[in-house]
Amino acid sequence: MEEEPVPVTASTSFSSNDGNGGQSVKECEHMIQKSLRTPTVKFLKDHLEKAGCIFGDKFIKAVHCDKKISGGYVRGEGILVCSNHMEIQDEVNQVVIHELIHAYDDCRAANLDWANCAHHACSEIRAGHLSGDCHYKREMLRGYLKVRGHEQECIRRRVMKSMRANPYCSEAAAKDAMEAVWDVCYNDTKPFDRAP
Ligand SMILES: [Zn+2]
Repeated sequence: MEEEPVPVTASTSFSSNDGNGGQSVKECEHMIQKSLRTPTVKFLKDHLEKAGCIFGDKFIKAVHCDKKISGGYVRGEGILVCSNHMEIQDEVNQVVIHELIHAYDDCRAANLDWANCAHHACSEIRAGHLSGDCHYKREMLRGYLKVRGHEQECIRRRVMKSMRANPYCSEAAAKDAMEAVWDVCYNDTKPFDRAP
């Protein structure tokens, strides 16, 4: 008997721009190299290695994406950054950090099952929270105004968006799973002491 195949795409993050312009693959590779020198990315890389997951030179790749996504993490392969949807260095850093949280979750939990809506929701909540995807400055750039409690609302919105790409979770199942694991996963800031 063969084992059940794992879903090809573990997680996908969505682009907020329409993909007009963007960077070439080569330029994006350069931006990825730059992001590897930032303290947060270095920190996550160290912790991945401490958890026993060494990543090589080709772990984070720039690719051209036809879909309206900013990047993704694929188990066993690594992180993809969609060059044509990246405008500035900050966006590349965000995608790299977001996807590194997924890679870290995949690494630390041997039984993580991306087809399981609660597992997927938990990693998206953490990636959204810990990557600063919903930092108020970025939300203002997206045209959302900062209000009290807005950060969590922003994370919820982005978790649901990412989970729409999961063929194993209906909209209702994704929402239920997200609410069920919210408190535990939002407060789980590992490997950080608290959200950076
Ligand atoms: Zn994600």
